[in-house]
This record gives sequence, structure tokens and C-alpha cells, in this order.
Amino acid sequence: MEQKERNLKRLRELSEEVKSRLDYRSFYLRYCPDARANGARLHTLCPIPAHSHSGKGHKSLSIDLQRGLFHCFSRDEGGDCIRFYELMRGVTFSKAVRELASELGISAGGQLPLAFRAAPDREVGEQQEPLNAERMTAICERFLKVCRREEQTEGMSYLARRGIDAKTIRRAGLVYFPRRAYRRVMRQMLDGFALDELQRSGLFNAQAHLTFYRHRLLFPFYVEGRAVYLQARTTAAGIEPRWHNMRGGVPSLYNIDALSSLQSGEIVYLVEGFTDTLTLTTHGFTAVGLVGAGGFREEWLAPLARFRVVAALDADEAGRRASARYSEMFAARGLQLAELKLPADVNDFFNHKASAALEFELLTEGAIEEKQNPEFRE
Ligand SMILES: [Zn+2]
Repeated sequence: MEQKERNLKRLRELSEEVKSRLDYRSFYLRYCPDARANGARLHTLCPIPAHSHSGKGHKSLSIDLQRGLFHCFSRDEGGDCIRFYELMRGVTFSKAVRELASELGISAGGQLPLAFRAAPDREVGEQQEPLNAERMTAICERFLKVCRREEQTEGMSYLARRGIDAKTIRRAGLVYFPRRAYRRVMRQMLDGFALDELQRSGLFNAQAHLTFYRHRLLFPFYVEGRAVYLQARTTAAGIEPRWHNMRGGVPSLYNIDALSSLQSGEIVYLVEGFTDTLTLTTHGFTAVGLVGAGGFREEWLAPLARFRVVAALDADEAGRRASARYSEMFAARGLQLAELKLPADVNDFFNHKASAALEFELLTEGAIEEKQNPEFRE
């Protein structure tokens, strides 16, 4: 009896794991290739064999992609993706769970692979209050400190290969933790904080595991010398998404602390992402970074007001559009934003040209002049 209960519990856990890993859209489209998407829903003719629909009537099957649920209005039958699989394949619950799990590479025996247990929660519980800034900062700082004690070589050579020098890495407080330190780092975080706080910060998931498992190169956001937030990227190929972060929005421009010691009137570059920010820092320029081209916020204008700001966003459509929009935002406050038009992204530009720094300065002068004397524009 006890064994049977254990098996059942195991099966239920496995089915939860399947549901947390399954891409609902492609799963349902496999069985309903003609389904029409309507927001987060699919509508289609119901393919469930036991329903024996004529195939000509109205579209009776509705699928909720957010929750992975289906409902056939014609037979008033519905359920989750596992129930759907049972009906489509004519198999039992247990067989459905095991087949889906094996398809997803989740092992049915023993414990789930660490990568699954460490996966960030897909949905944040509504009852979970966000952590206040003070506690978030405390967690970020301890996490960085604990990780910094581990072997850093792997992460630092990854950055060096991208043209970011050791001095910049040190000043930016970049930290790496090797996968073999995962459990040790996790334990030390649990020693310092209540699990509930770690979960609310996004550092831990509902399964009480550290979520930064695939993403171990850490980029802290320092504001007045304190790490208030962090994002991490994977250094391995083929991992999507590339980035993982603490819960909540990005609180500031990246590298904003670099401005505190800078004289008024100096040039500050507004760029996209950590790599571009640090590439410019490596070459002796001052840059602050946006997370994504569209991420600039009105309240970040004030700290930039005393500098000459030059946008050097990505050389793509999104970058150009954002640049034009920010230029208007600056103008509305009586500020100028010069726009640098590079043939490539900042990091590429610097990594492919020996004379990049000099060229970059010349392009900057041109951009600032063009801004100040728009009548000379071609
Ligand atoms: Zn049906």
C-alpha cells in the first residue's frame, strides 16, 4: 500500500513537471494543425477520436494556452494537456505522463535532473509579495559575495574573449560561479535568508532551488555602491533564454555608478546591454546600458542631465527607432541626445577594428556637431 502511494505521488510530481516544461502551443498544434490563434487561445475543430465529430460542424475545441487547458463545448469535456494526450492516444494517465516525460527528457525513476529542479518558476504566485528594495539588495550582495569565493576563471575568460579587460571586470564587480559550486552556493544563501525571502526575490524557485543554474555569469546593478539588482547570462551555447534575472523590473541604467565621479560636460554613451557598456569602458569611454533597446525610463533623464549624452544603440531597426524616441524625450526636457550611427553594434565595431577607438571618437564628434548645428545636416 505504502509503495503504491509513493508511486502515485511520484506520478503526480512527474505530471506537474511535464506541465511546467511543456510548450503548450506546439503540443496542441501537433494535434490540431489548423487551429486558429486568438490571443492566448486556440480555436479548432475537435480532433478527439472518441467524440466522433463529423469534422464539418463549428469549431468546438477551445484551448487556453496560458494554462494549457482544453475544452470541447460540443461534448462538454475538458482537462489539462495530459488528459488531452490520454484521449488522443487512448492511453491511461500513467502511460500518458511517462510518455510525455520521456519525450521531454525527464527521467521517471529517481530524482529529477537538477536542471529541472532549478528551473525558474513559470508563474509567480499572486500571493507572493515582491521583496522590498532593502532586502533585495541584501540578497544580491550576499549572493555575489558567496559566488566570488568560487573559482572565477571560466567566466572571466568568457568575458576576455569578448574583449572586456580584467580591470573593467573588477570595476563592474562581475562574478561567475561554476556549476560544481551550485549546491554550496545554494546552501550558503539558505544560511543567510529565509526561504520565503529567497523565493520572493526570484533567486529561488517554488521547489526551493537556486534558479541561477544555467545562468551563472552575474552582472550586478550598482547604485551608490550597492548591488540593488542583478541579471545573469549563460555562457553555454544553445541555452534559451540567454538571460535570467531577479524578480521585478530593472531598477536603473546599468553602470550608473560610473557617472558619480565623472565631471559635468563629459561624454556619456547610452548603449544596449552589458557587453556594449563594458566594451566602451574597456576602451576608456563612459557608458551606461539599457536592458533592451526600448527600456529607457523618464526618471533616468535627471542623472544624465549634466553630461553630453550620445546614443549608440544597436544598428538595427529597433535601435534606430528607440534612438529617435529618446531624442524626443531628451528634447522635451531641454536636453540634447546626439545619435551615433555605427555600421555595427558597439562590441562588433571594437572587436573587428584596430583603429576602432579613434574612429569612434571621430564619429562621436560628428554626431554631437550634427546635433548642435542641425542646419548642416545633409
Ligand atoms: Zn470534441
